[in-house]
Amino acid sequence: MEQEWCWSCTCSLLIPMASKPVPEDLLMNGALIKDLEVVAKDVALLKGVLMRTKETPNSSEVVTYAPFTLFPSPVPRVLYNQALAVQTHFNLLVDKISQDSKFLHETLASTVKVDDFTARLFRIYTHVLEEGRSQPIVLGLNRSDYMLDQGADGNMSLKQIEINTIAASFGGLSSQTPDVHRHILKVAGRPEEQKLVMDNNPAAGLAKAMAMAWKLYGSERAVVMFLVEDNQINIYDHRYVENELWTRNIPVIRRRFEDVCKTGLLDQDKKLFVDGQEVAIVYFRHGYIPQNYNEQNWEARLMMERSKAVKCPDISTHLAGTKKVQQELTRPGVLENFFPDDPEAVAQIRATFAGQYSLDMGEEGDKTVAMALANPDQFVLKPQREGGGNNLYGADICQVLSEVRSSSKRMAYILMEKVQPEPVCNYLLRRGSPLKLCTCLSELGIFGAYVRQGTDMVLNETAGHLLRTKSAEHSDGGVAAGVAVLDNPLLV
Ligand code: ADP
Ligand code: MG
Ligand code: MG
Repeated sequence: MEQEWCWSCTCSLLIPMASKPVPEDLLMNGALIKDLEVVAKDVALLKGVLMRTKETPNSSEVVTYAPFTLFPSPVPRVLYNQALAVQTHFNLLVDKISQDSKFLHETLASTVKVDDFTARLFRIYTHVLEEGRSQPIVLGLNRSDYMLDQGADGNMSLKQIEINTIAASFGGLSSQTPDVHRHILKVAGRPEEQKLVMDNNPAAGLAKAMAMAWKLYGSERAVVMFLVEDNQINIYDHRYVENELWTRNIPVIRRRFEDVCKTGLLDQDKKLFVDGQEVAIVYFRHGYIPQNYNEQNWEARLMMERSKAVKCPDISTHLAGTKKVQQELTRPGVLENFFPDDPEAVAQIRATFAGQYSLDMGEEGDKTVAMALANPDQFVLKPQREGGGNNLYGADICQVLSEVRSSSKRMAYILMEKVQPEPVCNYLLRRGSPLKLCTCLSELGIFGAYVRQGTDMVLNETAGHLLRTKSAEHSDGGVAAGVAVLDNPLLV
């Protein structure tokens, strides 16, 4: 592959010509970049790419733009299309896992022994299984995330980083960012590239599935309840989905765990009421990390899971999204068990898998430890956590594995091959940070939405995409974690 040096960064990383990065003369045109910075922030505000501020997370009196890249980042069209095409298979896979209690029991048996959070979730799952599910309608909204691995042969390939089955965010704001980048490209004198930034509307796609589940629930007065954090910095991202529901005359309320603890109850039919309002759907935008829970909140989660409300996700789908389950799926034969009659689905899913390795006790886990210690820079050590900032890299892998290698504590983690995306230069705009040219890495997310009623899959769709980009100096990602920023693929 033809290559040139990226002179604009000090990092001396190679950028293959094939990726069509933003030309150097544009990146280095200080006067234009300064103008574009002002234009970009204003257009982001005008288009509603908004966040509340750290200082006033629960007030909309003063708001700011959500962090984003100045330019869209190149993504090969074939890989973007591949990610879109596999999404409905991933939807089915997650849903099949959620219904396979033997698989969940066996796969998570080691994890729940040592990871308290997964164990608590699992207890709720067992409770619901024993009592019997009271709601046959399942609503799944997930986001499958990928990086584009450069590969030793220079061929880029799509590699899944993880699939998020709970509280997958930025479907709202990413519906607005294409217009922002198109405007910047126009002002930057690259109008012909506007058409390479795809339209995107995950908010509509997610709301469509929610609306269908709400309708199937079958009560006009029943509300969709967004279960939200105390600290609502990212409220506008939610609002896009909420407003899509209101447009369809579906009532939405926003409540915290605390509110559910205070006023939530189940009637004799297990209908869930909060503040006296019947809840058709509980949409969890919170509740995915241990810090979200105290004893009362665990009680509230159990009550919601036992209820007749449609849970998004239900507890089994939440567990289907654990890192341990994702590692188990990479084992030979496991996908085939879920898709015995669909080798094409198996092949499409497997093509996106990077290596993942168990750290369970025994010979296989011992081998994983030795492999990680020998080449720590080639791996990521992942605990069963969400939201960014929890994984371990390089020397930290060695330190943690040396401490836990002989104890069952190592079973709380899985080891994953490190995906090596191609770095691209871009500017990151973030409130309060001076504009800086960075060497960046991107992560492409695809939103999936499905609704099942009993045994019938009544909706299974790809709902849009999200590109997040971070400075390459950070190993871990996450917009909410303050590392990554919103971006758009520029299809090349
Ligand atoms: P979380 O649920 O916390 O988002 P992820 O598995 O997505 O967990 O990991 C967080 C971040 O760490 C990702 O956004 C990505 O930047 C980085 N990361 C995770 N796995 C890999 C990997 N295999 N190779 C390279 N980077 C990774
Ligand atoms: Mg995640
Ligand atoms: Mg992630």
